[in-house]
Amino acid sequence: MRVLIVEDDKTLAGQIEKSLLEAGYAVDVAYDGEDGHFLGDTEPYDAVVLDLGLPSMDGQTVLKQWRTNDRKMPVLVLTARDTWTDKVEGLDAGADDYLTKPFIVEELLARLRALIRRAAGQTTPKLECGPVMLDTRNGRVSVGGTPIKLTAQEFKLLSYLMHHEGKVISRTELTEHIYDQDFDRDSNTIEVFVNRIRKKLNADIVHTIRGLGYRLEWIEQA
Ligand code: CA
Repeated sequence: MRVLIVEDDKTLAGQIEKSLLEAGYAVDVAYDGEDGHFLGDTEPYDAVVLDLGLPSMDGQTVLKQWRTNDRKMPVLVLTARDTWTDKVEGLDAGADDYLTKPFIVEELLARLRALIRRAAGQTTPKLECGPVMLDTRNGRVSVGGTPIKLTAQEFKLLSYLMHHEGKVISRTELTEHIYDQDFDRDSNTIEVFVNRIRKKLNADIVHTIRGLGYRLEWIEQA
């Protein structure tokens, strides 16, 4: 899962970035409205954290333009003032949720998880596929109750597939959602990750759809 942070307070942006990286997200950061608007307009994000008070283009304008351009990713707005007008304006501009500064980063993470889950059509924080369980709250993965250790990239890839269970996901889509903007992307490595995940899980849930990509599905054996 890949998240964009648009926040001009570099200390706060850095704190949010660090927490998101630790929680297993790919993260891009923009420090002003124009850069943030451009990234959100051109890159596929699973969620955005958007400050309202930004230089060069304010957060509300950024959000309105995304929505006008049919950019549908979930957006969590950060407001500096705890006033109802700020919240109403944010929500009216197309925000999915908001958080008032100062906030506890755990709350930000929980709200983001919920937004990402809902956007992917999932209702519970524990994602299950056959014997495989991924708990989005702590990043733990288990098979039949036994914990499995995955690398950061393997986790990102499995998490994206688990959020989109049953759907065919292309290698390009996976690449776009597990790497940040600056990463030297190579879609051939996706197959390497998939094979490692298959070995570690030892459960037949990641299926290759020839020429199209992968589909996560548990097929009950007769
Ligand atoms: Ca600001």
